[in-house]
Amino acid sequence: MARARSPWKKRTASRECELEALSGASEPRAEILSEAKDLRERRARDGSAPIAVVFQAMPGCIFCRIIRGESPSKKVYGDDRVYAFEDIRPQAPTHVLIVPKKHIVDLKQAAPEDAEIIGYCHLIAAKIARERKIEDGYRTVLNVGPKSGQSIFHLHLHLLGGRVLRWPPG
Ligand code: 5GP
Ligand code: ZN
Repeated sequence: MARARSPWKKRTASRECELEALSGASEPRAEILSEAKDLRERRARDGSAPIAVVFQAMPGCIFCRIIRGESPSKKVYGDDRVYAFEDIRPQAPTHVLIVPKKHIVDLKQAAPEDAEIIGYCHLIAAKIARERKIEDGYRTVLNVGPKSGQSIFHLHLHLLGGRVLRWPPG
């Protein structure tokens, strides 16, 4: 018997999920909404699962929920590609999480096409650090895997600063 493949593993499905996440953004771009609409109509025509079903097939991801405004967060920055918010358990005076709106599990599972968004998260961290005037010393951290302390499996960058940061980190 053929094993059912997770829709998240399929490139097309993950693009649909990305569109769904983006169109749920507080200020979605018109072209994203229009692309999502075309996709929904195409899927309705060819009888495949509606886009929302594909999205719901992902077990509850807290960061997807935050991005979509379904769970509360203290917004620091947002655009069509990333959402940044205050960490709920801050480890420094500045502790912001910068999260791609696309659900990428972690760095191990990132695809070549994710390089741009991962780099972009770093530039947003630099922008926030500039605005917070913590450029005399800050750190960006991307935990990968449970032994590193990764607890949320939706790739995110920590921006930590506003105090002396020891090295090596624990
Ligand atoms: P990780 O350990 O996966 O690298 O980082 C996850 C971070 O997300 C942790 O620092 C944790 O405090 C934060 N976090 C977990 N759940 C929530 C939440 O619901 N809201 C916010 N704002 N931060 C969260
Ligand atoms: Zn997610």
